[in-house]
Amino acid sequence: MIIIKLDKTQCKGPKCAKCAYVCPNNVFTIKSDSIFISSPNYCKFCQECLKICPNTAINIKTVPSSICGF
Ligand code: SF4
Ligand code: SF4
Repeated sequence: MIIIKLDKTQCKGPKCAKCAYVCPNNVFTIKSDSIFISSPNYCKFCQECLKICPNTAINIKTVPSSICGF
């Protein structure tokens, strides 16, 4: 299971939006005042958003399914 979090205190918001543009799986949604993770289940852990984010605002980790119960 993949857990993805976005630190809003570090995120530059819609004027950046690089994560949303680079993500091939539409995990992020751009709103007028913020970026948010709308579809975390679509994440394939390609890590492109981690590489492009200028502020390390994104944190993604994989959790063994035996821990989360799936
Ligand atoms: S790339 Fe990073 S700073 Fe830019 S919108 Fe995405 S999370 Fe925020
Ligand atoms: S790791 Fe890849 S699929 Fe997951 S949110 Fe980032 S860019 Fe999208």
